[in-house]
Amino acid sequence: MKKREKKPAEQEPAQEKEDAAKPEGSAAESSVTESVIEPEEPAKEARKYKRRRALRLALLILAAYALIVAAVAVLVDGRHVRFYMASDGEMTVECGQPYYEPGCYAVTYGKLFGESQRRLPLRVEGEVDTGKVGSYELRYIVRYLFREYETSRLVTVTDTTAPEITLLYKEGYRPSWLDGYEEEGYVAKDLCDGDLTEQVQREVFPDRIVYTVTDAAGNTATAERRPDYAVTAPEITLLGGDKLEYNACLYFTDPGFTAKDSLGNDLSGYVETEGEVIPYKPGLYELSYSISNAQGEKVSAVRTVNILPVGAPETVDPDRNTIYLTFDDGPGPYTEQLLDLLKVYGVKATFFVTCNNPDYEDMVGRAYREGHSIGVHSATHNYYSIYASEEAFFEDFNAAQNMIYEQTGSYTSLLRFPGGSSNTVSSFNSGIMTRLTQAVTDMGYQYFDWNVSSGDAGETTNTRQIAQNIIDGCTGRRASIVLQHDIKDYSVAAVEQVLIWGRNNGYSFRALDLSSPAAHHTIFN
Ligand code: ZN
Repeated sequence: MKKREKKPAEQEPAQEKEDAAKPEGSAAESSVTESVIEPEEPAKEARKYKRRRALRLALLILAAYALIVAAVAVLVDGRHVRFYMASDGEMTVECGQPYYEPGCYAVTYGKLFGESQRRLPLRVEGEVDTGKVGSYELRYIVRYLFREYETSRLVTVTDTTAPEITLLYKEGYRPSWLDGYEEEGYVAKDLCDGDLTEQVQREVFPDRIVYTVTDAAGNTATAERRPDYAVTAPEITLLGGDKLEYNACLYFTDPGFTAKDSLGNDLSGYVETEGEVIPYKPGLYELSYSISNAQGEKVSAVRTVNILPVGAPETVDPDRNTIYLTFDDGPGPYTEQLLDLLKVYGVKATFFVTCNNPDYEDMVGRAYREGHSIGVHSATHNYYSIYASEEAFFEDFNAAQNMIYEQTGSYTSLLRFPGGSSNTVSSFNSGIMTRLTQAVTDMGYQYFDWNVSSGDAGETTNTRQIAQNIIDGCTGRRASIVLQHDIKDYSVAAVEQVLIWGRNNGYSFRALDLSSPAAHHTIFN
């Protein structure tokens, strides 16, 4: 205000100076013109000049006045920029959704002249990333009369939407009962975080699969799938039935089973069997067959196996004094001459054989064909291995049986335990002889001990003494079971003397069979 008042005041002295200079100047001019131009002309010019000056002055005053009025008007009007903003200055946008500018414009406004219709050009600064949770400021800037005016909008991007899990399905797919459900696939997408498939947690329950995924903002989505396994549950079929009965024997072989699911897939290879049958031990055994799947489900079948004792063979005492010559541990180098001798005398004897001399095994076949009896002694004759367990004993026993079968074409029901049933060499395995004698009896074998010892097993190597031992042992005895070893030449050499003595003294010689007296010893172990 002060400035504006001052201006016209400064102008006034200038005008006065001009006015004061006028008479001097006009006097000088008139003195010049008076000498050149007519006196009327200078007066005219001076008037014109005066008018122009006055006009100029008036215009100047008018302009100054207009300026003052305009300045006052602007000040009083208080013209400034006014913003119009659609929606609020603060707004929220869901993450992943596009951001639409709701609109903003600016006009000028004054107290005196009101609002201008003309919209001012706007500049917007700032950006909104709706793909990312956060707060964003948008600034709207207008330049008006050398000044910048601005307003702003706060845009908050939030994520309140859970991701979406899409379960995929394969055409014609059916879960296998055994392997369970094989994932067909799934996809998890979030508007804000994008693909979350990798983050999906998969929990497998017996009847369903649950898929869970949580986005960065903590929004959780779940989906569930219930595969149908029931249609393919397998069935176990027991070949031979669920109840079996066998006589006590060396080996039990399971007749087998099949397991098929309802689609016909063979799952037999996945069946697990539990239980054991001891085939030489009479009793009722239970075998279970089961198949389990990935879901922990189980299909089972049970069968019972009844092992029956065959029972001890009935023994018949001979009707006259009889000598049963028995030879252990062969065949060997002297077996052939022994067979020749027996053939000459027409006498049948019994051979409890081993597999220790494979070169002479053909003598087993010859003895059998010539009417002698063949019994198992032992394949190895190793006390420490055969008496280690029932399984070990029967494995050895079976090897000897196989050799006998190869030589004779049949298996034998006769045996003699190495060391006899009374042996104590087996005492390292307590009770083994008690169990083995029972087992072989249950299986229908007959084991034979002896009641006449030749003394050829260490007591003597003297043939005469051996013969005498046998004769002494057999004298007056209804059933003599004589123990000799045909792998010992001094023992084989004693046989002829015994044969002569027996024939001359009314004894008959016979080979052992199932009904023969067995001369069982007392069992000490
Ligand atoms: Zn022996």
